[in-house]
Amino acid sequence: MLEWLVFLLPVAALSGWLLARTHYQQNRRHKESPFSPEYFKGLNYLLNEQPDKAIDVFIRLLEVNSETVETHLALANLFRRRGETERAIRIHQNLIARPTLSQQQRTNALIELGLDYMSAGVLDRAELLFLELLEQSPPPIEAIKQLLRIYQQEKNWQQAIEMAERLPADNKNNSATMIAQFYCELAEHVIDKDSKAVPALLKQAHAHDPQCVRATLIEANMYIEAGNFRKALKTLQRVEQQNIHYIPEALPNLLKCYQQLNTIDAFQTWLTQLLQRHPNMTSVRLMLAKVIQQQNGEQAAQDFLYQQLQQYPSIEGLQTLIQLGQETNPILVPLVKNITSELIERGDRYSCKHCGFAGKTMHWHCPGCNRWGTVLPTEIHLSSLEKLLEPSQ
Ligand SMILES: [Zn+2]
Repeated sequence: MLEWLVFLLPVAALSGWLLARTHYQQNRRHKESPFSPEYFKGLNYLLNEQPDKAIDVFIRLLEVNSETVETHLALANLFRRRGETERAIRIHQNLIARPTLSQQQRTNALIELGLDYMSAGVLDRAELLFLELLEQSPPPIEAIKQLLRIYQQEKNWQQAIEMAERLPADNKNNSATMIAQFYCELAEHVIDKDSKAVPALLKQAHAHDPQCVRATLIEANMYIEAGNFRKALKTLQRVEQQNIHYIPEALPNLLKCYQQLNTIDAFQTWLTQLLQRHPNMTSVRLMLAKVIQQQNGEQAAQDFLYQQLQQYPSIEGLQTLIQLGQETNPILVPLVKNITSELIERGDRYSCKHCGFAGKTMHWHCPGCNRWGTVLPTEIHLSSLEKLLEPSQ
């Protein structure tokens, strides 16, 4: 109820002002109501929660004045957002049937009708409608975007690629990473049935996005399956340049390759150098500890981790260290104490149950999602460890 008032009052105020102004300019002496009786009738139906009758009134109004198109679009939009898609569809279909509509207005109404179909879940009808809109020149971007959405939902990657390629240049950066992902989806789909097709798909992925780690990981997997560990290794080593954050995804297969090639010592060197370049990477530190254990024994691995954890504390490191040695080793006590106090000091105490925003102080109004009363005091949990890896403010 309140929603209708919020929506209608500005509309009423604005159209009243416009009508009054025109009226005043035309005839300064007349003092009639600026609203048509029909408008009040429509308003009344809405206020009495009889939206279907209100729609009838509005549709009749439209025949009188095609300048109310925007109002109708807004009204239909409101219906759609309330989940009343049938009413939205009715208004939009009626709009489209008006011969007085401009080309742009008709296109907008068709797009909105397509969106109604999407929220009603009739994707095939939405698809047909948007495909028809594509025949326009230039095709409306919204139609391309919606088709892209449909094809992603349907996991129709080939057609998703075609749509993403039709997006205008200012969307290109974004769409290039997306297209690369679609090629990876295609590659993963055919890998078991037609592995010969995979290299070409991965090549396409990297042609669109040279930084696509996923394509690199798939490529390395193929080499490993084929027993070509040298090539797999070379491929996996590219991940550092592509995006260092994905290194943890490559580490298990890197270990496999070095083991198969009998060059674990080279792996140890590589990891040591990588850790020098990126000292915050806990996953690399743990892998190095594992390799040291294999190469130089448990004591050496313990010494390495113990020394590393003083400077780069992590729960995972601590756990590995405990597993490596005697659980009752008194040397662990100060380390456990340090790491836990660091956690308590640096961890976030509050988090939003709606959007996940986390912070150190209480916010009754969440800065992340602007909701009230969704931020709660929380127990210190593992996600706060990420903060430990960043330099403290
Ligand atoms: Zn929030």
